[in-house]
Amino acid sequence: MSNWLRASLPDPYHDKTCNQLLRLRKVDLLKIIVSQNSMTSQVAVEKIKLEKPPLDLHYLGDRVLRQDAKRVARVDQETRQLVREMLQTMYSQDGIGLAAPQVGIHKQLIVIDCEPNNAATSPVVLINPVIKSYSRDLCVIQEGCLSIPGVYMDVTRPAVIEVSYKDEQGRPQTLKATELLARVIQHEMDHLNGVLFVDRVQNALALTEELRKHGFSPQAVKSVA
Ligand SMILES: [Zn+2]
Repeated sequence: MSNWLRASLPDPYHDKTCNQLLRLRKVDLLKIIVSQNSMTSQVAVEKIKLEKPPLDLHYLGDRVLRQDAKRVARVDQETRQLVREMLQTMYSQDGIGLAAPQVGIHKQLIVIDCEPNNAATSPVVLINPVIKSYSRDLCVIQEGCLSIPGVYMDVTRPAVIEVSYKDEQGRPQTLKATELLARVIQHEMDHLNGVLFVDRVQNALALTEELRKHGFSPQAVKSVA
């Protein structure tokens, strides 16, 4: 089974060998299935690791991560190209979520894929996301972040959220998210407000130790816990 995900946009990887065309046909089928699901992505990205991902990440301690992101005024080809590059960067780094500020772009744009190894599922793209409701139920999940590699700590957040946003076609969407997806959306939306998951860690002592172990300064944390 090939590890492909393609959709309606022109694809720079396309070539004209029979093998590729055969693959494309299979993928066209997938595209039809995918397009029936409104929360799936219409940007074409292969779920593979690139030796040289298109975008550079910023890390804890970098001021860039502390700035607020601006609303995306218009969802256009440029936006979709950014989405594509963010997805490529995320897959290359083994991430399941990436927010534009992490690559130094202060736009309210997030890409998420809770199943990066499953070629049959599409990523979720959230533009200008707003959380409409939080569940009273909280849960503790261990979080990590591409901007703080190696550091994993427990964080408490609402278990279920409802979020409205625009997708990569500029269409308004609403999504009720649970479990891991709810967690990743909240984590990524924090990035749009200059908040990092380490700011929400309650066990300060353990956090300090974990940060030092991975070469980060505990002073870079702005606790909101
Ligand atoms: Zn993060």
